[in-house]
Amino acid sequence: MAVQSVESTPSASVSLGPAVALSCRECGERFDLGPIFACVSCFGPLEVAYDLPAGDPEGLRERIEAGPNSIWRYAPLLPVPADVADKPNLNPGLTKLVKADNLARELGVTGGLYVKDDSGNPTHSFKDRVVAIAVEAARAFGFTTLSCSSTGNLAGAVGAAAARAGFRSCVFIPHDLEAGKVVMAAVYGGELVGIEGTYDDVNRFCSELIGDPLGEGWGFVNVNLRPYYGEGSKTLAYEICEQLGWRLPDQIVIPIASGSQLTKIDKGLKELIALGLVEDRPYKIFGAQAEGCSPVSTAFKAGHDVVRPQKPDTIAKSLAIGNPADGPYVLDIARRTGGAVEDVDDAQVVDAIKLLARTEGIFAETAGGVTVGVTKKLIENGLLDPALTTVVLNTGDGLKTLDAVAPTTGPSATIRPSLEAFRAAGLAG
Ligand SMILES: *Cc1c(COP(=O)(O)O)cnc(C)c1O
Repeated sequence: MAVQSVESTPSASVSLGPAVALSCRECGERFDLGPIFACVSCFGPLEVAYDLPAGDPEGLRERIEAGPNSIWRYAPLLPVPADVADKPNLNPGLTKLVKADNLARELGVTGGLYVKDDSGNPTHSFKDRVVAIAVEAARAFGFTTLSCSSTGNLAGAVGAAAARAGFRSCVFIPHDLEAGKVVMAAVYGGELVGIEGTYDDVNRFCSELIGDPLGEGWGFVNVNLRPYYGEGSKTLAYEICEQLGWRLPDQIVIPIASGSQLTKIDKGLKELIALGLVEDRPYKIFGAQAEGCSPVSTAFKAGHDVVRPQKPDTIAKSLAIGNPADGPYVLDIARRTGGAVEDVDDAQVVDAIKLLARTEGIFAETAGGVTVGVTKKLIENGLLDPALTTVVLNTGDGLKTLDAVAPTTGPSATIRPSLEAFRAAGLAG
C-alpha cells in the first residue's frame, strides 16, 4: 500500500506557503511535496517540514492578531498558499476557549480550567480544521474528488468543504454510525457509502482504493493527503496559546482516535516555543480514550511501546479506531511531557457529558464526554495536578450523538396544561 502511494509521486512544482518538503518521522528522509504519506525507505509516516518565519516573534504575533477570525490567521505556519482566506472554504477555527469555573469547582481544579469548544466549527466538530488544510493540498495537486474513511465527523466535514470548494466528494463510513452523523455526512450532496465493517475495515478498503484505477484522481484527506490533513490540528495549539494571552497551558487533555490530533497539537506547541511566540515552559499532554476502544491507554498503562489493535465496542464512535496509526507517537509524547493516557467506560462518558452540560452549558458529543470523564479520573488518581492551568478539548457537538444521553434524559414531568397538575408535579419554586 505504501509503495503504491510513493510510485504516484507527482511533479515537484507545487507551492504551499512555508512548507518546503515532506520528511519521514522515523528516518528523516525528505521528499518533494506531493500526495504521498509513507517513506519509500522505511515506510515511516511523512510529515510537513517548513521554513518558518523565525527571528521576529513580536512582528509575527501582530501579523497573526491582525489576521482573519479563523485558522487562516496562522497561514504563515501552515502548508497553505498566502491567499488561502480568499478561496472558497468554510473558514473554520477560532472557536471559544471557555473558562469553565463551575466545572473547575466541581472537579476541584484551582489552577484554572478551560474548555476548548470545537463544536463551534462549521460542521460542529474539530474535523473542519484538518479538512480545510487537506483541501488546499488537493487543489494544489489537481485532485477533483475528495474522499475519506471516517468515524463520522470527518465524512460531514469533507462533504461540506467539497460542496463549498467545488469538488466532487465520495466518503466512506462504517454502516452502523449514529443517525446524526449519517445525516450530516449526506446532506451536503456528495456520495456517502456505508461499509459493512468497523472503521479499521473502512480504512483498509480506502487504502486499496487508492492503489486501484477506481480511485485515480481522488484525494483521500486522511490517507494520501494525511501529512497535510494532520497539520490542521496544530491550529488548536496556536489558538489555545493565543487565547491564553500567548501562554502555554500547563496541562492539556486531548481525545485519541488515530492519535493524529494529539501528536500535531504537540508539534504546534513546539513550533510556538521555537518561534519565540510563547515562553518555553514545560507542559503535560494527556490522552483520553473510551474503555471500549483503548489500545493506546492500555499500552501506556502496561509500559509498552507497541500498541496492540483492539476491536472497538463503545458509544464514543468518533474515537473508535482499534488500530491507531499514531498510537506509538502518542505514547512517546505522553511519557516525554510527563502526561498520561487514561480511559473511562461508557457510563462515565454519559455522566461526563451531563456534567459539562450542567456546569457550563456546553453539550458535547461522546468524545467530549471522554475528555471530561478522563480529566475527572486523572485528578482522582493524582496524575493531573488540579493546581495547574488545564485545557480540556471538546471536539464535537452533542446534537450528533443524542442517543448517548437520550435514555437517561428527558422531561421532568409530562402534565395536563393546568396549575393544579403543575402543583402536583412538585416542581414549583
Ligand atoms: C476525529 C476526531 C477526534 C480525533 O481524531 P484523531 O484521529 O485522533 O486525530 C477527536 N474527536 C472527534 C469528535 C473526532 O471526530
